[in-house]
Amino acid sequence: MTSLTYKLRRSKRKTLVLKIEQGEVVVYAPLKFSADKINEFVISKSNWINGKLKKFENTKGIVEAVNNLEKLLLLDNAHDIELSETERKIRFADGKLLVPKKYFDIQKRKNAIIKWLKTHALEMLRERIDYFSQFYEIKFGELSLTNAQKKWGSCDFRKNIKLNFRLILLPQDVIDYVILHELCHTYYLDHSSNFWNCLEKYCQSPKSMRLKLKQYSHLIGTYR
Ligand SMILES: [Zn+2]
Repeated sequence: MTSLTYKLRRSKRKTLVLKIEQGEVVVYAPLKFSADKINEFVISKSNWINGKLKKFENTKGIVEAVNNLEKLLLLDNAHDIELSETERKIRFADGKLLVPKKYFDIQKRKNAIIKWLKTHALEMLRERIDYFSQFYEIKFGELSLTNAQKKWGSCDFRKNIKLNFRLILLPQDVIDYVILHELCHTYYLDHSSNFWNCLEKYCQSPKSMRLKLKQYSHLIGTYR
């Protein structure tokens, strides 16, 4: 018989709900449901649960590897980070990030990698935003990078756009979505239906892209 460990939370609810919270299976159940019935329900969902748990472990593994400076994520591709005896500056070559040995100290290495990432993020994001801005004729003010804790991007009433440097870790289509999202804020500062209608002109299925972006929210906590 299959068994799955889960936390049970009973309340005055009417339906059974299964959630994965921080890698744990949590079942929200009505007060009167029998333990057998709940167990049966959980087992019937075991494929879904195992898929989610595996995904959680993978995500955790990636975040750890990024924070431990073992891996570099660029456009959703993971690359090794190697200390180099010969390099004098950080350099990306043969699919690896080569870091000079002078950055042996982990804090110094982290700062140097962040600096490298920011330089490349600004270059890539500027190229991309300029392209969309010209192609769709949407004017904006200044572009700058942020280190925001919760936001991937923002736009103020002066049409200045800020983008989180960690965007460079994400897939290109998600980055493009964030850029187009902020460009539409130059017309509408809120998230009204006018805003979403505007975004739909420039971006295919923006609402599904918004959900895709949410799948990468763990990366906004990296390099802290
Ligand atoms: Zn917005």
